[in-house]
Amino acid sequence: MSDAIAEASASKATSDGATQQVDVAVVGAGFAGLYLLHRLRKAGFTAVAVDEASDVGGTWYWNRYPGARCDIQTIDYSYTFDPELDSAWKWSEKYATQPEILRYLGFVADRYDLRRDIRFGTKVTNATWDEAAERWRLTTDNGAAISCRHYIMATGCLSTPKPPEIEGVKDFKGEIYFTGRWPHHEVKLAGKRVAVIGTGSSGIQAIPLIAEQAAHLTVFQRTASFALPAHNGPPSADRTALLQSDRAGYREQARWSMAGVPFPPAPVVSWQLSDAERRERFEQAWAAGDLVHILTQLWADQGVDVDGNALVSELIREKIRGIVKDPETAAALSPNDHPFGSKRPCLDTNYYATYNRPNVTQVNLRQEPITSITASGIKTDKRNFDVDVIVFATGFDAMTGAIMAVHPITGRGGKSLSDIWAKGPQSYLGLTVAGFPNLFMITGPGSPSVLSNMAVSIEQHVDWVVDRLQAMREAGFSAIEATATAQDGWAQHMADCSTLTLHRLANTWYTGANVPGKALGVMPYTGGVGPYRSICNEVVSRGMLGFRLTGPDVAAQCNDGEIVRLQPDVRIVLNMLADMNLPPIESLGPEGARAFLAQFNAGRPAGRPVGEVGDGALQGADGPVPYRLYRPATPGPHPIVVYFHGGGWVLGDELSDDPFCRDMCRRTGMIFVSVGYRHGPEHPFPAAAEDGYAATKWIAEHTAELGGRPAPVLVAGWSAGGNIAAVTCQLARDRGGPQIAGQLLLCPVTDCDFDRPSYRENAEGYFLTRPLMDWFWDMYCPPADRTDPRVSPLRGKLAGLPQAFVVTCEFDPLRDEGVAYAEALAAAGVPVEQLKARGQMHSSFTMVDVVITGVSGRVKMAEALRRFAGLAQEERQADKGARSDGLAA
Ligand code: NAP
Repeated sequence: MSDAIAEASASKATSDGATQQVDVAVVGAGFAGLYLLHRLRKAGFTAVAVDEASDVGGTWYWNRYPGARCDIQTIDYSYTFDPELDSAWKWSEKYATQPEILRYLGFVADRYDLRRDIRFGTKVTNATWDEAAERWRLTTDNGAAISCRHYIMATGCLSTPKPPEIEGVKDFKGEIYFTGRWPHHEVKLAGKRVAVIGTGSSGIQAIPLIAEQAAHLTVFQRTASFALPAHNGPPSADRTALLQSDRAGYREQARWSMAGVPFPPAPVVSWQLSDAERRERFEQAWAAGDLVHILTQLWADQGVDVDGNALVSELIREKIRGIVKDPETAAALSPNDHPFGSKRPCLDTNYYATYNRPNVTQVNLRQEPITSITASGIKTDKRNFDVDVIVFATGFDAMTGAIMAVHPITGRGGKSLSDIWAKGPQSYLGLTVAGFPNLFMITGPGSPSVLSNMAVSIEQHVDWVVDRLQAMREAGFSAIEATATAQDGWAQHMADCSTLTLHRLANTWYTGANVPGKALGVMPYTGGVGPYRSICNEVVSRGMLGFRLTGPDVAAQCNDGEIVRLQPDVRIVLNMLADMNLPPIESLGPEGARAFLAQFNAGRPAGRPVGEVGDGALQGADGPVPYRLYRPATPGPHPIVVYFHGGGWVLGDELSDDPFCRDMCRRTGMIFVSVGYRHGPEHPFPAAAEDGYAATKWIAEHTAELGGRPAPVLVAGWSAGGNIAAVTCQLARDRGGPQIAGQLLLCPVTDCDFDRPSYRENAEGYFLTRPLMDWFWDMYCPPADRTDPRVSPLRGKLAGLPQAFVVTCEFDPLRDEGVAYAEALAAAGVPVEQLKARGQMHSSFTMVDVVITGVSGRVKMAEALRRFAGLAQEERQADKGARSDGLAA
């Protein structure tokens, strides 16, 4: 039976005259509300939707201003739940106009006979949870009240226009229009003097068309937006061909992608490309006329790194300068206060060229702010502009506005949602709120929503919610509510995710900054559509983790906890590794394991450029050992850090932590010398430790030759390399030098005893496993020698050692021995700082440009090394907002 024929047999709401009784009430009859009604009916629930509008369409009902179109290619901005519907509708344009999208939604409403369960022209005026009856009680401004078991907000993220906060609006004698509430009758602008306030997506779409009609158009711009030409036309041939060649596969790829549009991850990083190659990729993106393309396909670092982003931002500014003839106007139109993509970029048709028209004036509100609206027009602090029409394209009280401000919602214990959200929206998964049983939000704050293709995110939410309601009914549960633990955990995860992207660096409606007095914080989920979907699925597979379920005749169920405790990118990396089903490294033997590591490292992003990289040999404990030197681009001489790579004393070499050494060389402004010490089992204990000491001594004696500052040197190491660094400090103290100014120990091995909680908690699933550590020890050190401080430095004398910075990761088997070493150092009087990295695993900090949340930790490590070397601290713009995230020092 096709979805279209699946009739709404169950949808028979009852009414006692005063109150309509239904299983589920939905607010909104847009993309989300329509699909909800359809799914609820199919699942046998009685349902009603209410909408203030007189017909279906949601945002597409209200936003009918000139030029209104979607900005995700329409073949992607469609329902996919019914393959027959998916192939029955043909879009006429790459980016369909508002009327066409509205026709589509009407077509869907007719096809599934949805209108009979929608109360149009009706607003909910109050919603209160009745604890005794376990039902929501709704009052409306038009007709019967509603009593429902479940209440679902399908209100859209951008449906409550922001009131104009400009004085004097009521005094204006001319016509006033809001893009978000454009009239249904024709608006005649011909021959009129028109003002547009606002240059976001709505303003940028409307301005070129208004300019064609108006006698004169004055655009009042506060913040310049980045806009890309849409190159609209018929649906793009390449995407259509992809869709038609495998419709199901194409849709499924979208569901698991980052933005809800099927593009593969960008394969390269900006510094791997020459200027010419970058420009070529950019020109392709500019010609493609697709926001998701330019945001995901240029180079991988543009969305997560300020430097990578600056490159594309400047290329766009260059385009603007090329189109707009007046240099002053071009400069004002060129965004320079936020990274590209951190504020929603726009898609335009002739936007920049419109400013070359003689009947268009731009007013830069950064130079002359609006002071008031008068009877005859708009007054800035420099001039008066007399106009006949003012168009407010000033945006929305986004994401929370329609849920919170439109009507009071009162949950358990008489708590109001507005009070609970006064300091910012809290939710579990962006779907539910603790204290508000049986209330759901479709694409609410805390879900990918506006950072994704809404069509894909809406379907995912609706499916998840309706599936849960069905499962509850089957199990006899009548109420579901998120727990406070789960909700707090989600807030933490949201905060962790927001360090991944650059959205935190712009004041936008994503953060609530566009509405005066609104609490600030990145509201949409920035972790990506696919990862979010997998989290929602995991909540279910882990027994509805974070929800309390109750019912009249069944035992209550509450599997409490936080769904994601790992940093978001660490979770993705570990899931990818799990999917690869790799053989255990220890099963490969030393040579096989080394080959595996080399192959693994070959697939990682190339390390960033430094001033100079050179290879050489130095004197180890028993002959020459190789080294690789990383020199900063700044003028020297620089302090030298002697670095020991990880690899369990068995794997790796002086090149294997290349991206980490490059990154730390850049951040510290110091020379890093990575030492190729000898490995077990060919060279067992104490070969690696003795090489570490000998190398440090040799480097300290050859600083001038290496172009470095005279001794003292510093030492640093990761994992087994951290072990060697720690041991080197003990040997240097006991053997009369060299002098060491400080030690950076990153996830170090410090002891042979595995009987610690971190070994039990993180024994498997976090990359470094207990069997692998067993194997490393077996390859390097015979049992009888394991308590020797040259391999278990925790057992050595610790007084008199150089100051230390010790980094441990929450999900690392080695966590507790690292903490124990730091505490023992402190107890012995050594100045020591600890960085306990929450949600990170053993390899997080060395997976440079893969684990983006590792940046904040490396910033702190670099600061420590600079302190040890007596250098002044410097903050890079790229590190802003990343310094304190995910860390407990
Ligand atoms: P917006 O992006 O919030 O833009 C509002 C504009 O009005 C901004 O330029 C803002 O400047 C300005 N503004 C606000 N208050 C002002 C004031 N008091 N004085 C002067 N200027 C003021 O709103 P929008 O353009 O309606 O777009 C909102 C979102 O809707 C978009 O980001 C997009 O997600 C969606 N949308 C999509 C489409 C599409 O699919 N094609 C079309 C339209 C909208 P500041 O930046 O300085 O605050």
